[in-house]
Parts: sequence; C-alpha cells; structure tokens
Amino acid sequence: PLDLAERAANLLGAGRRAQVVRAVDGVSLDVAPGEVLGLVGESGCGKSTLARIASGIMEPSEGAVRIEGANRAGLGREARRRADLAVQMVFQDPMGSLNPRMRAGDIIGEAPLVHGIVGRGELADYVAGQMRLVGLDPALRDRYPHQFSGGQRARIGIARALAVKPTILVCDEATAALDVSIQAQVLNLFAELRRSLGLTLLFVSHDLGVVEHISDRVAVMYLGRIVEEATTDALFARPNHPYTQALLAEVPRLEARKRRFSALKGELPSPLAPPPGCHFHPRCPHAFDRCRIERPALREVAPGQRAACHLNDEATRSSSRA
Ligand code: SF4
Ligand code: MG
Repeated sequence: PLDLAERAANLLGAGRRAQVVRAVDGVSLDVAPGEVLGLVGESGCGKSTLARIASGIMEPSEGAVRIEGANRAGLGREARRRADLAVQMVFQDPMGSLNPRMRAGDIIGEAPLVHGIVGRGELADYVAGQMRLVGLDPALRDRYPHQFSGGQRARIGIARALAVKPTILVCDEATAALDVSIQAQVLNLFAELRRSLGLTLLFVSHDLGVVEHISDRVAVMYLGRIVEEATTDALFARPNHPYTQALLAEVPRLEARKRRFSALKGELPSPLAPPPGCHFHPRCPHAFDRCRIERPALREVAPGQRAACHLNDEATRSSSRA
C-alpha cells in the first residue's frame, strides 16, 4: 500500500531563482494493495508532482510517503533502495524517456542487472520474458526506440518498469500520447498485468474516460488539493463536488474519451497564487460567501465517498433544522 500524506511539494520553476510552488497541498491518499487508483485533473493541478513524490523521484518538502506503513524518508540505505525499486514510474512520453541510443533489450535489462535482480548469464532469457509479458516479440530486442511504433514504445517503458519487480506502478499520462485504439490496447495491458502480477496502480491522467476504464477508485485533484475521492462507480453516477460535476457534464458517456474539461468555464488559476478559501470558487456556479474565505475540508458524503465542498455542510445544516 502506498500512503501519501503530503503537506506540500516544492516544484522548482525555470531559472536560477526558482519559485517554490505549493503544487500539492494537504493531500492524503491511500492506495490499497492490488487496487487501481485513478488521479484526475487538469494539467497544472499538481498531479504529476504527486506522481513524482509517490514514486520517490521527488522528495516532499513536508509530509511523508509511507510504503507498507514505513515512512520512506526514514529508511536506511538498503531499505530505501528496495522501497525505490518497489515503486516504479511509467512516464507520459516514452520517446522522451527511452534512451534513443540504447537497444530495447538493454533498456529493459539495465536496471535488473545493476540491482542484482538477474545475473549476466540469465539476462537474455529474463529480458525475453519481460518483453513477452508486455506483448513484445523478443526478436525485436536489438532495435532502437525510433524503430518501434508509439504503442510498442509504451510497452518498452512498461517492461522497463516491471523488470525490477515492483509492487506499485505509478503511471503519469502513460497512454496520453497514443491514438485511441492503441491507447485502449495499452490500457487493457495494464488491466491484465494488474491481475496477473497483483500490481497496485496509481494512474494519473487528465482523461476521465481513461481513468473510468481502468480505476477502482478515483481521486479528483484541483490546484494541488484532492476535492473528491470515491469508487469509480459512485464518482461517475453521483459526483458530489461541483468541479467533478463540471468535468462529467455535457459530453455523453460514450464520448468519454472526448471529455476534456470543455464544460469548465474560465481558466485554471495560476498555482502560484491559488484563490483563497475554496480554490474552485472563481469557477464554481454554486459559490457563496463562505467559499471565498474558508477552505472546505475533505469529508465523507456517502460511504466510501469524500468531497471538499461547503454545500455538504449547508445540506446537513438545513436538514437538521427541518
Ligand atoms: Fe463551489 Fe463553494 Fe463548494 Fe467550492 S465550496 S465547490 S466554491 S460551493
Ligand atoms: Mg502532467
């Protein structure tokens, strides 16, 4: 299980006098073993930062990442190395994340060899097995990344991550660069791998259709905060938060893949200066005075569903008055 209890993450901007942005603020997320948690939000909402923190690529400035109960920052060298191997990241741009001068087989075999997961003598067989696992023909092992299609490159990236035997995969827009039909194939591969290997997935995407397809639970992020968290069925059937409702609005279910936040009015405010109170208030059709001042807490609105919106308090208040 992966337990993120983030207070804040430092996101360093360009230039020497880097700006410190509170990209992820007070986020607490639990991912149960074998579960697929989808994390959805517009670009710039902090979800990539959260993915990087979860996978150990980035350190949180406050807060902790707990893997199987252990705070990663408190681990000794060897335990930390094992924890880092246990959580692997699959990146959004396989072309950018695969070394163009390395052959596919070497890309997949490098880390398990370095970490002593496999010896030199068994490496060729091991790499062939990993390639088969993701639906790649081992005969292609000597080709370079540019000699593969986008879908095949995505599979190489997945094989590379799996080759060190992780229990958790953090996927950041792992299918975003692919055509819809190829994207569906790669999503099906993730679903198969999750079943066959018992993997836990944190699946980060701006695409609700993708998240709906693959996730057991979904967390919706807005300007560095989780605004709603629920089972996938509940979230799509009974979205509570006005932001989630806006994401789901307008576009018919069958067109899920085209739901790219067109229902939302106004721009995403700068994460450098998020609006006070509820970060969503400038875009929210239901905003009232309290929303401009007070930050709404994430609380249970139905079994297994949490949302951060003052309307839930108002509803409780008026029903207890009645
Ligand atoms: Fe809208 Fe207010 Fe709820 Fe925020 S707290 S989502 S502004 S109603
Ligand atoms: Mg991103």
